[in-house]
Amino acid sequence: MSDSKPSTHNHILVYPLASSGHFIPLLDLTRHLLRHGLTITVVISAANLPLLDPLISSHPASLHKLLLPDPPVDRSLSPHPLIAKVTATRQLFDPIVRWFESHPAPPATVISDFFLGWTHDLASYLGIRHVVFSPSGALGYSVFHALWRDVLQIKALHGGEKDDENFVLSFPDIPNSPGLHWWQLSQVWRGYKEGEPGYESFRKGVLDNMTSWGFVFNTFEGLEGEYIDHVKKLIGHDRVWAVGPLLPDEHDRLGSTGRGGSSAVPPDDLLMWLDKKRDDSVVYICFGSREMLSEKEMGALTDALKRSNVEFILCVQASGSSLIPSGFEHEVGGRGFVVKGWAPQLAILRHRAVGSFVTHCGWNSTMEGVTSGVMMLTWPLGADQFTNAALLVDRLGVGKRVRDGGSESVPDSVELARLLEESLSVDRPERVRVKELSRAAIKAVKEGTSVKNLNTFRQAFI
Ligand code: UDP
Repeated sequence: MSDSKPSTHNHILVYPLASSGHFIPLLDLTRHLLRHGLTITVVISAANLPLLDPLISSHPASLHKLLLPDPPVDRSLSPHPLIAKVTATRQLFDPIVRWFESHPAPPATVISDFFLGWTHDLASYLGIRHVVFSPSGALGYSVFHALWRDVLQIKALHGGEKDDENFVLSFPDIPNSPGLHWWQLSQVWRGYKEGEPGYESFRKGVLDNMTSWGFVFNTFEGLEGEYIDHVKKLIGHDRVWAVGPLLPDEHDRLGSTGRGGSSAVPPDDLLMWLDKKRDDSVVYICFGSREMLSEKEMGALTDALKRSNVEFILCVQASGSSLIPSGFEHEVGGRGFVVKGWAPQLAILRHRAVGSFVTHCGWNSTMEGVTSGVMMLTWPLGADQFTNAALLVDRLGVGKRVRDGGSESVPDSVELARLLEESLSVDRPERVRVKELSRAAIKAVKEGTSVKNLNTFRQAFI
């Protein structure tokens, strides 16, 4: 253990993973904690500083940065880019210890992203509490944990290298026994090689997460109560808090329009375009910050949009925008608004004119869509997205599947055009249910379970 001065109870070290879907919600949690008088230091590199700066400007006395360089990524530790990137962050162990030991009032807790499981060792060394933040939902996390915990048995069951796509893996100890086809399991996990340093260190981190002092989820009990209880059972204590949806206030215009990056188009242009539309009459389409459609999938989507009569906003990240067929925007004319690059997603979803959301089902998009009360058209592509899609469609009844079938399957554009139109009809049962769930989500953070849980969590820092 480090032999420094006693740490300061109301000072927290927050350590996000530098990836939009992980960074954004942990920054949202930071904003909530700052409102309650806590002091927070965020571990960050220069490249991500623009994301933190607006929050530092509004909390100059209580929010600080621990600016550390992006550690060099050693690809010999893992051929998988994500595993290599996560493994590289471990090089920050010593710099963080040095910062802690020289700090006049060092933190008593570190809250870190669930991929950064090695921070459990860091917290033990410093003699402070470790809290895991999960940007995935509690069901997604339960599946993620089971996959890494049982990886050797599952791979043996599946037959090692044999890549049987349709093999169904079930998780009988998780409520409602979810199941996934082999092709729906994350590519990162499928690439696991026993004994490879990067993978072994990542797996150790996942297992260490379960011995942490506490866990925070960006979800709410009305949505995932049974899965939260399952995580409590796995961990063996009750310090598991569902505090979501962790979104900026509706009135926080900058919070909604500038969240996670600057918009590729002026947000006002988009919002004014939406202002002219009827309630629940526009489809919003976005596949998150990292996922890309294949050329065939983009072809099917744009063809469906041309065939249908729906008005829509299509957001494609800059690196995939060349896949949009030439002439598409001209052909759809004023019916569609195409954003090539970062879109102000939360502000779009919150607009009364948006009625449905074609989504890859990243957990943040899932929470944002549900909270905004839009019908979900699910098109999962990887990671925890197939689990999230099943939750939305099969358990919650707030969405319909756009993409089903094997890894190479591409939606049929005629069927997709029909689904797009159908998703905007007023009396769809999914719409009725998602509006109910939206009310439950808003209640949870205004006066319900999430506020209560956040308050209990905060008590730990008083
Ligand atoms: N996002 C956004 N604009 C974009 C793309 C994404 O604001 O153009 C935000 C989105 O609102 C969400 C996050 O980025 O908060 C993406 O997280 P999610 O878990 O949905 O997916 P990921 O990008 O991690 O796959």
